[in-house]
Amino acid sequence: MSDNNPLFEQPDPSLYSPTKKGPIGSFFSPVAGFGVTFSTIFRPTVTEEYPYKKVPTRPRYHGLHKLNRYADGLEKCIGCELCAWACPADAIYVEAAPNSPGAQYSPGERYGRVYQVNYLRCIFCAYCIQACPTRALTMSNEYEITAPTREEMIYEKHQLLVPLAQGMLNPPHPMVEGTTDADYYQGNVTGPTQAQIDWVAEHRPDDPSLEGARASQKAEGEK
Ligand code: SF4
Ligand code: SF4
Repeated sequence: MSDNNPLFEQPDPSLYSPTKKGPIGSFFSPVAGFGVTFSTIFRPTVTEEYPYKKVPTRPRYHGLHKLNRYADGLEKCIGCELCAWACPADAIYVEAAPNSPGAQYSPGERYGRVYQVNYLRCIFCAYCIQACPTRALTMSNEYEITAPTREEMIYEKHQLLVPLAQGMLNPPHPMVEGTTDADYYQGNVTGPTQAQIDWVAEHRPDDPSLEGARASQKAEGEK
């Protein structure tokens, strides 16, 4: 090695020294840190008074999961477990069960009998909803997810399944006559049919969803 080799020359120390201030900079230097404070004092307050006032989230905020239904009330979840496999936090547990003519909960062969989301594990990444082939699983804007015990932070299917909308028929009940699961996926089912209403009336005459389904069927017929 030679001291004359330019590769081993010491760099100019001024490159790494603090920038030298001029006379004005030197004068204000002791109070420069208060600049941010003083400029913020005159801005509007942004403190959110949660939980007294709830601020709406952004529309695409990832909150509580929802298990959705088709227009006739059948569940969209087919128990395929793709959401559970896609989850990087291992937060979803699904157990499927076969549908049968007397107990049809979703179109096709199977439905999600057990569905759990562990909110102590979930990181709200939404990989699960992207993996779902039937759009059964989506995420809402609901962010108040809390419980007094660890066990209760595991949300069960009945807490995630959306309630019946007006006119929907409570499952189990047969699929719309003459349709396949593909018709459901393609959005060809627009509500319960008379045959489905009759089936529920025969097997569960006290089902509270019957009244709404009948009213909706009647309104549809009058159009
Ligand atoms: S949002 Fe992410 S972490 Fe939460 S259950 Fe879905 S895949 Fe798992
Ligand atoms: S929510 Fe979707 S991905 Fe998960 S088990 Fe049900 S159908 Fe399959």
